[in-house]
Amino acid sequence: MTASELAPAWLSYPEDANSLSGDIWARDVTRGGNGELEISGIPVSALAKEYGTPLFVVSEADFRARARDFKDSFDAAFESLCGGVDVYYAGKSFLCTEIARWVADEGLRLDTCSGGELAVAKRAGIPGAHLGLHGNNKSDAELNRALDMELGRIVVDSLPELDRLGAIAAGRGLRANVMLRLTPGVHAHTHEFIATAHEDQKFGLSMAPDPETGSSPAADAVAAALANPGIRLLGLHSHIGSQIFDPAGFELAARRLLAFMAEIKQVHGVELPELDLGGGYGIAYTEADTPRPAAEIAKAMAAVVGATCTELDLAVPRISIEPGRAIVGPTTFTLYRAGTIKTVRVDTPEGGSAPRRYVSVDGGMSDNARPVLYDADYTAVLASRTSVHDAVMSRVVGKHCESGDIVVRDVYLPSDVDHGDLLAVPGTGAYCWALSSNYNYIARPPVVAVRNGAARLIIRGETEDDLLARDVSEPA
Ligand SMILES: *Cc1c(COP(=O)(O)O)cnc(C)c1O
Repeated sequence: MTASELAPAWLSYPEDANSLSGDIWARDVTRGGNGELEISGIPVSALAKEYGTPLFVVSEADFRARARDFKDSFDAAFESLCGGVDVYYAGKSFLCTEIARWVADEGLRLDTCSGGELAVAKRAGIPGAHLGLHGNNKSDAELNRALDMELGRIVVDSLPELDRLGAIAAGRGLRANVMLRLTPGVHAHTHEFIATAHEDQKFGLSMAPDPETGSSPAADAVAAALANPGIRLLGLHSHIGSQIFDPAGFELAARRLLAFMAEIKQVHGVELPELDLGGGYGIAYTEADTPRPAAEIAKAMAAVVGATCTELDLAVPRISIEPGRAIVGPTTFTLYRAGTIKTVRVDTPEGGSAPRRYVSVDGGMSDNARPVLYDADYTAVLASRTSVHDAVMSRVVGKHCESGDIVVRDVYLPSDVDHGDLLAVPGTGAYCWALSSNYNYIARPPVVAVRNGAARLIIRGETEDDLLARDVSEPA
């Protein structure tokens, strides 16, 4: 067998379709003696039997190791500059009480972006001082809740919000801890970044001067924050994108923000104590992705921050970062059961046709919306066994009434994959459960955490009763 004409350029024909390539899987996922996929020694068939499919399986050891790796690497790199780094795990990537506890255990803080996420943080017992709250449209109730919980930082996104928060806090005799989210004109995605002055997006305060007033929304917000008795201005924040491999975008954003801090020092005589450089570190979803180790990113960023501060004669602010995907993404795989399998002939660019195998699984866009939302690529393996059959060009699709309901667009799977086999899709820790839905009245899957050879439920799956629970009409 050879490569399919339908394969995208990045996808190579596998030497062994049963192999688990390095960066993509949690560290304790292996093939057992009988060829079955195992996590921390537990065969996936045992997990499927106990918890059903689809099932999110998260490696607790891998999560903790990745969280600690970010914290330790950035602390080490920034130690001599600003005494260390505060790492805020971006809760929006995947959050539940158990995850919040792991985050806190490993010495990280937690970044939230809604009242609901704050409720989880509270339930997990995270102290307010270790919480941040983001969002471009926080409600008064959310701002009040943040003040109730004495949040370490509220990341203010606009001038109207700054005024609103200042008034709420002052009215309660409080001062809100505030970071200002700026748009530094750097947009990064994977291997490129775009540097602009103006940004056409809903988040943040622009650093580019307004042609009519001559001053930037960012500069106006700093002046307003410093003058507001309800606001304690801690520093600046930026988040330039997601799934980024190229460090140049982070470095340029850091330089622009530090230059702005130097300007604030000059104009207001204030050296803001904190700078948050956001999240967005890329992970490997397929063989095409080449993420960099946290230590390498940390060193590169520390070098830029250190040199820029020296150049600008600025005290190095306390640095914080907000990784989400890079911590939780690789820790998790989704276990599905294969159902209907069919092969279709597809026209090739050369004018011929080639077969594509459609492998339907018992979940889909309701548990992983990223392929539909972002054209995201994933990979998959046959998990319940190995196969010596040739690999064929396959597409793993869900069971939803939607032709775009694709889980893995392009993958070589053994030609004997059949109804009843288990398939595993790695890299589903971030933005999968978090974005899950009940489309087609399909119940959201449970999440199971595995550690030291034992599995336990951390989020139970929905039942049919759950699906009907909020339908208020009396049954017939
Ligand atoms: C989404 C987001 C993050 C986390 O992004 P990842 O790509 O998951 O690292 C961090 N900060 C802010 C403000 C975000 O919106």
